[in-house]
Amino acid sequence: MARQLQARRTAHPSKTAWLEFTQLATDYNPVNLGQGFPDFSPPKFIQEALCKAVNGGHQMHQYTRAFGHAPLVHILAKFFGRIMGREIDPLEEVLVTAGAYQALFCAIQALIDEGDEVILVEPFFDCYRPMVKMAGGKPVYVCLRPVEGSGVLSSGDWVLCAEELASKFTPCTKAIIINSPNNPLGKVFKTEELQMIADLCIKHDVLCISDEVYEWLTYDGNKHVKIASLPGMWERTVTISSAGKTFSATGWKLGWAITSAHNMKYLKIIHQGSVYQCPTVTQEAVARGLEREYELFGTPESYFQQLPAMLHRKRQKLASCLGSVGLQPVMPEGGYFMIADISSVKVDLSDQGNEDEPKDFTFVRWLTKEKGLATIPVSTFFSPEHSREFSKYIRFCFVKEDSTLKAAEDILRKWSQTQ
Ligand code: PMP
Ligand code: GLN
Repeated sequence: MARQLQARRTAHPSKTAWLEFTQLATDYNPVNLGQGFPDFSPPKFIQEALCKAVNGGHQMHQYTRAFGHAPLVHILAKFFGRIMGREIDPLEEVLVTAGAYQALFCAIQALIDEGDEVILVEPFFDCYRPMVKMAGGKPVYVCLRPVEGSGVLSSGDWVLCAEELASKFTPCTKAIIINSPNNPLGKVFKTEELQMIADLCIKHDVLCISDEVYEWLTYDGNKHVKIASLPGMWERTVTISSAGKTFSATGWKLGWAITSAHNMKYLKIIHQGSVYQCPTVTQEAVARGLEREYELFGTPESYFQQLPAMLHRKRQKLASCLGSVGLQPVMPEGGYFMIADISSVKVDLSDQGNEDEPKDFTFVRWLTKEKGLATIPVSTFFSPEHSREFSKYIRFCFVKEDSTLKAAEDILRKWSQTQ
């Protein structure tokens, strides 16, 4: 008798856009404003910290503490304790993970059970959905939508309807996952918006998984607020960050989760049952980088000031280019990305195949193959129920060299002249 090979949990994950579109970027070698990674080097100090770690003796090349290298969890507790305005226990309340991705996985596996409902705020980083399903949970969706008549000029014009959000909380709701600054929209949730979410979490005794990987990247005076720092939220929030995003070194795949010791003991069980520990050298380098940033915090020498200042200029550059070729951008208040409306673009995509897929997928494939510019379809960040409604947007990553942005601009200008 043939044995059932497939475990039930693998039946859930949906197809991801990343496989197709990163492969397409490899095959066609376009100007790449697709996947979110810098095409410039991380700052010198963090590269030097890594070299120093590599040359730092035999211990740097052996296992370290399972839940996080001691110097790293200590500086994380000190740094985030200062930001959140509370004492954080480095050994009990911090967990170092293989990127923010694994922190999300640990939190979801550790806290979500069969039949639990998990509210996802759309648009959301697409891995939340399969991760929730793999844990046996049921995703429940609520959309950020542009305010009527706003002209949709800024990501701040996209808001949650308070009544709709409240209606999603049921006795089965176990958690809500939020992401601020948001990927792909760039929305930075205001304190009032976070308070509205916090009030519902407290009222319904619900957990909050807060993905804050773009925490240092806000523009135009927008401030990133940690929902865990709002009254009553520490106990029920898992805060997730990424060293890759923090130090422009996405390939290091190092991240962390911070939460109360009570919640953390469950995340640790998933962590020790999956990766057990993360590489020592990168943890050492990130620890030194954060120690430096702790000393320079709030000064012009801080990378957490310099990176957003640099990205602010790049964001302006991309926005004016998109606007001038008739692609209406939604100005992001934070993060790596800008979405733009492609509705007004006149291009015949009828011979590009699959009529069943959302239009942005067809358009992005065409733009990559025919014009040499890679982007990401925004409908991938929505539930199947809402993906078509938002398929008039595509996402551009602006964490790129000026020369890359200029090459993208040249492609768009040339194309707009031939339309
Ligand atoms: N969350 C969001 C919102 C992201 O955009 C990403 C991609 N970097 C991740 C989590 C995963 O981060 P990491 O690369 O550190 O695993
Ligand atoms: N977070 C990055 C992005 O949104 C990378 C995505 C990924 O690697 N799956 O582009």
